[in-house]
Amino acid sequence: MSIIKTKNLVFEYIRRDEEGNVEGITRAVDEVNLDIRQGDFIAILGHNGSGKSTLAKHMNAILYPTDGTVWVDGKNTQDADELWNIRQEAGMVFQNPDNQIIGQVVEEDVGFGPENMGVPTKEIWERVEESLRAVGMYKYRKYSPNKLSGGQKQRVSIAGVLAMHPKCIILDEPTAMLDPNGRREVIRAVRGLNQVEGVTVILITHYMEEIIHADKVFVMDQGKIAMEGTPREIFSKVEELKELRLDVPQVTLLAYELKKKGIMLPDGILTAEELLQALEL
Ligand code: ADP
Ligand code: MG
Repeated sequence: MSIIKTKNLVFEYIRRDEEGNVEGITRAVDEVNLDIRQGDFIAILGHNGSGKSTLAKHMNAILYPTDGTVWVDGKNTQDADELWNIRQEAGMVFQNPDNQIIGQVVEEDVGFGPENMGVPTKEIWERVEESLRAVGMYKYRKYSPNKLSGGQKQRVSIAGVLAMHPKCIILDEPTAMLDPNGRREVIRAVRGLNQVEGVTVILITHYMEEIIHADKVFVMDQGKIAMEGTPREIFSKVEELKELRLDVPQVTLLAYELKKKGIMLPDGILTAEELLQALEL
């Protein structure tokens, strides 16, 4: 069952000068065809300006296609009657946690989404508890968000989306502003959502090591899908990744260089453990 599907999706930004005259057109998404299945963990990679955020904003009807079509759970995003269903089914988490948290207390913040949806009070509290537990933030429920670290705040944002019971969560570089610890916390929480809660995850990132656990990876370049495959397939194409200006993880790079020197190794080594095992060390 496909949860997000795009057909020949094109999006163009129109740039205007101060007088409102058209200065130029940027084609940010260029003929993208995607079919994401319910329950998948999808990663979207790409350097800055490759069109990732523009694509993501089509997945919960923040932007509408210039050309082509997007369906969320079978609903065309241009169907105005379905807007709120689409926004509830496909939740979005952005880069900066400070712009997403509005409550004075963690549990109150997480409750805003379901409250706006008209969920009965008792159920709101159940959802708040289950969502905070799912991201490992339940013990902070009475805290003021501004007392939390970046990684903790971002997990509260994720809980806020989760409390709306979405089928799909789109995370647009959720770890870009976090330190390595915060990044690990958030990625662990995101994997849990997918594996334990069964939520479809679309993780946009430019950190290669965050895509290791994805079922499928898409690499964007100039608005197009330039590569797609499993993490292992993607990581085995070191030269192509470099051309797309992506940093290959050091261990993958090392394995690749060893292989070039004639050492027998499988393609697409993802972790230090795999490399050690392959080298029989
Ligand atoms: P990414 O998220 O991969 O960094 P974006 O989707 O933000 O890429 O941007 C894709 C392209 O669209 C870039 O060339 C960017 O400059 C352009 N772009 C993004 N947002 C706007 C905007 N609001 N107006 C005009 N151009 C934009
Ligand atoms: Mg972006």
